[in-house]
Amino acid sequence: SGRISGRDGANQVDFYSMPCEVAARFLILYGSQRGQAQSIAEEICQQAAEHGFTADINCLSNQHKYNLDSEIQPVVFVVSTTGDGDPPDTAQKFVRKIKNKSLPHNHFSHLHYALLALGDTNYANFCNGGKTIDSRLQQLGAKHFYATGHADDGTGLEVVVDPWIEGLWDALKKTFSSMATSDQQDTDLSDCTQDNFHKNASGQEKYKSDLEVDLHLLKLSETDSQKGKAITSDSIDVETLSTVLVASLKQSVPPLSESALNVPALPASYLEVRLEKVSTEGETVPSDKDGYHEVSISKAVQLTQDDAVKTAISLELDISNLAYQPGDAFDILCPNRASEVEELLLRLDLQTQKNCAVQVNLLKNSTAKIPLRIPQNGSLQFILTWCLEIRRAPNKAFVRALADFTQNSSEKRRLLELCSKEGSADYNSFVRDANVCLLDLLRAFPSCLPPLSLLFEHLPKLQPRAYSAASSSLQHPGKVHFVFNVVELPARPEHPARTGLCTGWLAGHVSSILWPLGTVPASERLGTSAQPKVHVRPRPSSTFHLPADLSVPVVMVGPGTGVAPFIGFLQQREKEREANQEATFGETWLFFGCRHKDKDFLFREELERFAHNGTLSHLIVCFSRDEPDAAGTVNSPTYVQHNFLHAKNVASILIKDKGSLYVCGDAKNMTKDVNDTLLEIIGNELQIDKLDAMKTVAGLREEKRYLQDIWS
Ligand code: NAP
Repeated sequence: SGRISGRDGANQVDFYSMPCEVAARFLILYGSQRGQAQSIAEEICQQAAEHGFTADINCLSNQHKYNLDSEIQPVVFVVSTTGDGDPPDTAQKFVRKIKNKSLPHNHFSHLHYALLALGDTNYANFCNGGKTIDSRLQQLGAKHFYATGHADDGTGLEVVVDPWIEGLWDALKKTFSSMATSDQQDTDLSDCTQDNFHKNASGQEKYKSDLEVDLHLLKLSETDSQKGKAITSDSIDVETLSTVLVASLKQSVPPLSESALNVPALPASYLEVRLEKVSTEGETVPSDKDGYHEVSISKAVQLTQDDAVKTAISLELDISNLAYQPGDAFDILCPNRASEVEELLLRLDLQTQKNCAVQVNLLKNSTAKIPLRIPQNGSLQFILTWCLEIRRAPNKAFVRALADFTQNSSEKRRLLELCSKEGSADYNSFVRDANVCLLDLLRAFPSCLPPLSLLFEHLPKLQPRAYSAASSSLQHPGKVHFVFNVVELPARPEHPARTGLCTGWLAGHVSSILWPLGTVPASERLGTSAQPKVHVRPRPSSTFHLPADLSVPVVMVGPGTGVAPFIGFLQQREKEREANQEATFGETWLFFGCRHKDKDFLFREELERFAHNGTLSHLIVCFSRDEPDAAGTVNSPTYVQHNFLHAKNVASILIKDKGSLYVCGDAKNMTKDVNDTLLEIIGNELQIDKLDAMKTVAGLREEKRYLQDIWS
């Protein structure tokens, strides 16, 4: 089974059999907010070469580097979604440009494109960034050469992304073929259009509008193209299963353990890595490229009692001339854990070469690009510490590639199972949901010894982590505050206990200057030499700000650390009230929730001050785990949405007084529950049914009067 064990580029497009040879170049354009769309676009670019194509890649914001008005080669868009279903900031200009009403309906009639939209079903307006671009391109006459993919971060982007990329090559091949026979070019791209894509994919004649659902069903495997060559458990020497048949990361049970497997195609390797024995000691963190600034942490305060369920920490950063507004966030660079990097080096037998300079070249004949995430001549230790994400669960393509470097046949079989279509449920439970990282896999599969080049090809870029500003520079000039809970990942059979990559690192980083709750003296200032440093980059929000009109009422909902941006809003409002004594200010409402009044009521004193001095008209707090009072009655509702439901006037403030609603917090449950409650109170207020309430809420979103800042 050549494609299973070999890396021979069996997917090459046979252009010589095309009617006439065409330059198989296409353009990739990405609009990325947090780097996901960019890394998927880069992945497509890299895979292009092994499929016999040449790809140019650009960020949508670099409009001088591409010209869609005259682009006759196929274009592949990868577009993420941000905020309330907005295109990412980097795509905003492009969207404005194509939305220009004076463009004629055939403006893009020459354009053949495919679009992969990224989103999260936990957010409102799933994939709307991509959908906005897609529908406008259609209105302007552009044609799909391949059906649009909608990938859901809520369930795992790779569920759609991997099959979508896999199908792209065939669609491109057909597109180039029909371009070559250009007489028919305009009339027949139908083999690759959405309807046929579904027919081809599922082998049925039905039309499905939800591509994301159907993509699951795609036959991606080698068995599709190499019938009869599936891997079966018989074809590999499988060790006898233990008598207690319980599936785990390391072991499967029937039927999977006895099943033939459809595994993803093996991506051809394209990198060659050399380690030069030059000492590169001394590198500590990435330089100021990409807009990062090294700043001091001037204060760190624990906001929760030691026995609280979660530990919340507030940091004050000295940002001198970095401007921001409440509602903005900051990206923070964090390194991988030194102990994990060390163990990885040891495991790969590279410990003695950790200070060597890394030189990365493309393999001969490869037309892929060297990933930008790997700096030339950085030390091996530096690259593993600051440039590559080693904590994220390896995707199926990576697991597939690791299997090829696994000696023991039963270990290899298990890795193949985990990346196979049949083993999807096991992959989800034992890899993705278990937060298993590369090191966990290497621990579980001791005979797996991948080369460094494989790691560099597959490990994604280490992304910064974003935190909302929890302050206003009117109140704290030259400073920004932010707050985070230290994420605790308990021990599991697949890995030892650990803390979240950035929150755990930050907690350790500030441990020497951390003040326990209630102990920080107001005048306390650390000497600058004692202040830990951190690299930050502002990440402005385009919409999540207080209304410019001071008289607009504001309703805020933010339990837990979701209160962060509202602390910034209220500090700003407090200062605005001091400065504009004559002005009329709209009412302000804050719905906050925590577990226990005395353990994790974040910013309690400050919030009570706001309520006391009128900055906050209504402070409404609930405690989800406090005991009933002495009389046995539970006074407070459990969650913010219960208070929100029962608060008089909120609906009329939003509808009649044209107020603004802000919700900040967890993507999974809270924001959905609050949204349901909003529908209920608006339905009650206006005496309308749910459908009409949904339309009213959609209107609020449209007018940017219902804004969500959702974090997963
Ligand atoms: P948390 O401490 O886990 O929870 C706060 C309160 O919310 C608890 O009382 C909890 O109750 C309750 N809660 C649980 N499920 C709920 C639901 N469905 N509806 C309403 N309330 C619910 O909160 P957290 O860890 O701070 O998380 C807040 C979210 O805000 C996170 O997603 C975080 O990423 C995000 N966020 C963070 C920042 C930042 O800059 N760090 C900024 C903005 C937002 P029980 O536990 O008793 O069920």
